[in-house]
Amino acid sequence: MENCLFCRIIAGEIPGDKVYEDDHVYAFRDINPQAPVHVLIVPKKHLANILECDAETAAALTDAIRAIAKQEGIDESGFRVISNCGADGAQSVNHLHVHLLGGKKLAERMA
Ligand code: 5GP
Ligand code: ZN
Repeated sequence: MENCLFCRIIAGEIPGDKVYEDDHVYAFRDINPQAPVHVLIVPKKHLANILECDAETAAALTDAIRAIAKQEGIDESGFRVISNCGADGAQSVNHLHVHLLGGKKLAERMA
């Protein structure tokens, strides 16, 4: 979608630190990392958030989470996946994305 920040990163119009790409998914490092590994995993097609996520996209995101966790070396140590949705979820970019966080022992508090 025009003017969507993540669509522009996927298109290469804005530089992103890419870590993974397949037919359906693109992933890059968060500009403001909250953990040693902080990757944003996004569908290539513009969907606003998880409310718009179809089964095929959900499967592609899950496959990518697994692949990137292995690639980043955190599959055995563990990690967290988060998808913020809407105002109370503090979603700041309206293109569906999953945060993959790991590389340290994360806080037990979720909110
Ligand atoms: P949200 O708050 O919507 O769940 O997450 C948006 C994330 O995008 C934030 O963690 C923020 O640091 C990240 N972000 C915002 N702008 C950019 C950017 O231009 N490049 C990258 N790589 N990450 C960004
Ligand atoms: Zn978009």
